[in-house]
Amino acid sequence: MALITENDAPMVGHVQKPTATQGVRPRISIVIPLYNEEDSIPHLVEALDAAIANCGEPTEVIIVDDGSRDRSFALLKELAERDPRFTIVRFRRNFGQTAAFAAGFAQARGEVVITMDADLQNDPMDIPLLMAKIDEGYDIVSGWRKNRQDRWLDRKLPSMLANRLISNVTDVRLHDYGCSLKAYRTEVLQHVRLYGELHRFIPALASQVGATVTEVPVNHRARKYGSSKYGISRTIRVMLDLINVWFLGAYSTRPIHVFGTLGLGSMALGILAGLYLTALKIFLGASIGNRPLLLLAVLLVVIGVQLVTMGLLAEMITRTYYESQNKPIYVVREIVNNHSDDAL
Ligand code: UDP
Ligand code: MG
Repeated sequence: MALITENDAPMVGHVQKPTATQGVRPRISIVIPLYNEEDSIPHLVEALDAAIANCGEPTEVIIVDDGSRDRSFALLKELAERDPRFTIVRFRRNFGQTAAFAAGFAQARGEVVITMDADLQNDPMDIPLLMAKIDEGYDIVSGWRKNRQDRWLDRKLPSMLANRLISNVTDVRLHDYGCSLKAYRTEVLQHVRLYGELHRFIPALASQVGATVTEVPVNHRARKYGSSKYGISRTIRVMLDLINVWFLGAYSTRPIHVFGTLGLGSMALGILAGLYLTALKIFLGASIGNRPLLLLAVLLVVIGVQLVTMGLLAEMITRTYYESQNKPIYVVREIVNNHSDDAL
């Protein structure tokens, strides 16, 4: 039984895999981030038990306690001591849902990872629906809370607008990025690095490395126990993350194309305005010293030069990022007749 306890060394990279579940390698790893959900835990365990029996695949459950301050960990530890299918990873403090997902992924041994919330808003009985799509060949199956049981104004409306925008920008069209109930083929997760609150964008990030994505409608229930950990303020963070995902996805190997285009555009406008003012001065003898346009022309040229310079700096950072880690700028699915390791 490999429990992470207070005294264990901090986790770095991939952790030693546990050998529970009677030596059978699970096909499914259910990963659940959990923060102060003591009231949900008994019901969650009951629902998981029934769902695992119902789906009939060898399954492990990895619950990541994200620094809970209530009795959650004590309950989870007691559970894991009784039932080797459960692995508990305990954080030293609250690192957030994204970090909890990342820790769960590092621990997962299954061929498929299913993520869900601990608050029972998702229904683990829907797992076979997701698995059916995985078996059809998709790499990622996203749950779609078609009949979402949350307030309209501060939950469903912002989420609807955000989903449209994210779908358009990332070109991965999903109705419900925010649904935690999702299934991932483990191999595509290896190429996805998570930072900040990017767990909401995993389908988009994975699609950037070639994963195929689909969605299925799933059940959704109102939160019965505990309270939501997020407010409306997440909307602005989601928008900033979207800019980040878009930029890194489309331009991480060619940042000069973004900064340079904006910079050259700005410079061109500034130069045109400057030429116009110069012509007024030379041919019409007009006084241009007090023209607001002069200020704008100078500003546009200066900003333009700065943007191009920023693009060049970003190009250098890109090279450091890829070359220092020997990171390829592509992802290979497979090579047929690979002779590159043959002795010459
Ligand atoms: N959660 C977490 N760390 C956090 C915030 C939330 O592990 O810092 C967990 C929480 O316990 C729940 C899931 O992430 O299992 C989703 O959180 P919540 O239900 O509050 O979000 P909502 O459903 O309201 O969007
Ligand atoms: Mg919830």
